[in-house]
Amino acid sequence: MRKTAFIYTDRYSDFDYGDAHPLKIYRLKLTYELIKSLGLLDIPNSKFVEARKAQEEELLLFHDKEYLEVLKILNEGANIKKAYLYGFGSGDNPVFKGLLDWSLFVTGASLQAAELVDSNEVNIAFNIAGGLHHALRNRASGFCYVNDPVITIEYLRRRGRKVAYIDIDAHHGDGVQEAFYSTNDVLTISIHETGKLLFPGSGFETEIGSGIGEGYSLNVPLPPFCDDEIFIYAFSEIVPAALENFRPDIIVTQLGVDSFVTDPLAHLNITNNAFVKIISQLKNLSERWVALGGGGYDIINVVKGWTLAWAEMNDIKLSEKLPKEFFDRYKSWGFKDESIFDKPYIVSGDIKEKMKEAVEKTIRFLYDKALSKIK
Ligand SMILES: [Zn+2]
Repeated sequence: MRKTAFIYTDRYSDFDYGDAHPLKIYRLKLTYELIKSLGLLDIPNSKFVEARKAQEEELLLFHDKEYLEVLKILNEGANIKKAYLYGFGSGDNPVFKGLLDWSLFVTGASLQAAELVDSNEVNIAFNIAGGLHHALRNRASGFCYVNDPVITIEYLRRRGRKVAYIDIDAHHGDGVQEAFYSTNDVLTISIHETGKLLFPGSGFETEIGSGIGEGYSLNVPLPPFCDDEIFIYAFSEIVPAALENFRPDIIVTQLGVDSFVTDPLAHLNITNNAFVKIISQLKNLSERWVALGGGGYDIINVVKGWTLAWAEMNDIKLSEKLPKEFFDRYKSWGFKDESIFDKPYIVSGDIKEKMKEAVEKTIRFLYDKALSKIK
């Protein structure tokens, strides 16, 4: 019987990127509330774990000391002149009071997930706040100040584990790819909207790793407007085959839901029906799974998507509707109706054929140039 852990703290709600910013931290609280109201924190073989704050030194598993010093100053809410050199102050990466504390909670929760899975206490641990995959060693990027996936992977790697990182956010997992680009003990896979149109402008299929890491970085850039069928096809063609070659001890996933059809920041047309199918596949690909959240800027997608994911991790099939009490209480946050599952969204005609051809071409390229090198 599989064991699971859900890691969360209400302390996340102490922080705020600001009214105009697309990353709404309250999406986490709302997700937690739905999960709780469905009774999904009270199931056999599953436990709730209060998120801990990471130690500042744990950030140094990836970030450099100078950058940590900058984070410590900005944490007080005071801006400093040179902050822009570290990626701060733009609309994407605002300075707000407690930004380091926020990042320490997110990272602490991801490390707890890794500790729980690595010690075999649980098979799957889910930190919905994690997955801030764009942060670089000494620079904030794409709403991410501290790269908790890299720190988590580095923690596991130093314990001698082979880690496969799988990222299904609409945006390329650039920070994670870059951190492990020249190594063969971490495999990174990112399936995302093509960087031709979307931040961070990278993640092309030709980025396959370098030196001994050649073949250990896989990217499937998707054409805009891809639907469930193409998303599942891309995932199913690449991820199981790559993991079969690599045979990881642990998988770490970034489960961004900004790939969904109504997300305001990206242009993919995925629904939560495909998302659940992918969660189901992941569950069967590894006995040890550190699951992290990620992007998601339509709050309702986040709440439903990650609740469905958590249910699927626990082999629970949810009924079609939100609990009435939850719906009545929170409908003003943007719930249009009581359904949990999205209506199917299918792209057809010429545009679909062209998408299929483009993705097939990418997959052939990856089999030829990268997958065969993975051991
Ligand atoms: Zn994203």
